[in-house]
Amino acid sequence: MTDKVVIITGGSRGIGRATALAAAARGYRVCVGYASNEAAAQSVVSAIEAKNGKAIAVKCDVGSEKDILALFKAADAFGTLRALVNNAGIVGTTSRVDEMSSERIQRMMAVNVTGSILCAREAVKRMSTRHGGKGGVIVNLSSVAAKLGSPNTYVDYAASKGAIDSFTVGLGHEVAGEGIRVAAIRPGLIDTEIHASGGEPDRAHRLSHMVPMKRVGTAHEIANAIIWLMSDDASYVTSAILDVSGGR
Ligand code: NAP
Repeated sequence: MTDKVVIITGGSRGIGRATALAAAARGYRVCVGYASNEAAAQSVVSAIEAKNGKAIAVKCDVGSEKDILALFKAADAFGTLRALVNNAGIVGTTSRVDEMSSERIQRMMAVNVTGSILCAREAVKRMSTRHGGKGGVIVNLSSVAAKLGSPNTYVDYAASKGAIDSFTVGLGHEVAGEGIRVAAIRPGLIDTEIHASGGEPDRAHRLSHMVPMKRVGTAHEIANAIIWLMSDDASYVTSAILDVSGGR
């Protein structure tokens, strides 16, 4: 049994949940972050423990630095941090930019951008050989929205994911000589509850005709790519952004 830990923010549902289960199957101790749905997070922990894996659920709104520090403290007590999946993310309801409130835009950036950067800061402090760490991997969740811009839907979300792309490239270069690889996945239309949180549960299926592969993707298909990036099979991959989008 190894003591290598992965922190997955928003690990309780959707892509985060699928990644948590897949990471546990590969021997990681999984620190499952969640914002509010404790039952969903506990069900991930139970599913991992049922297969003799190790997991803990930690409440952490990545829009709060205090919560992030508590998440990493809990992970420190659980083993040696070797990977971070910056997965937690939110969308807003369909709006034009000229209809958006300042509060909405600030929350979008606080969760999707600042939260990811603060989590990465804490991970680098622990994993970088510069700080006595053993190295590791950071995988950020971007979106094809970063390329498309999502006009008339959620340009603020798209812009937050554009920031994640830049952050991935820059941080990857910054820590490339310190044993840390940094990469991002840009999912396309994936069948999760995020679309319901944006007010349109059927959004992914409604738009599936626009995907070259003519179907939505599954959380499992995104988790597979994340797990590959975390693995030694991706040992020469850093500052890279991988579209997992059926060609979209
Ligand atoms: P989801 O099904 O809505 O699940 C979101 C997860 O993040 C839940 O575990 C939720 O916790 C957690 N969360 C929400 N707000 C949070 C916050 N402020 N702090 C910490 N955790 C928070 O989302 P998903 O579809 O799996 O998306 C995961 C990531 O992939 C996001 O970054 C998203 O932008 C990106 N992505 C998704 C798609 C897609 O089509 N699904 C496409 C492109 C990119 P609770 O259960 O406690 O609420």
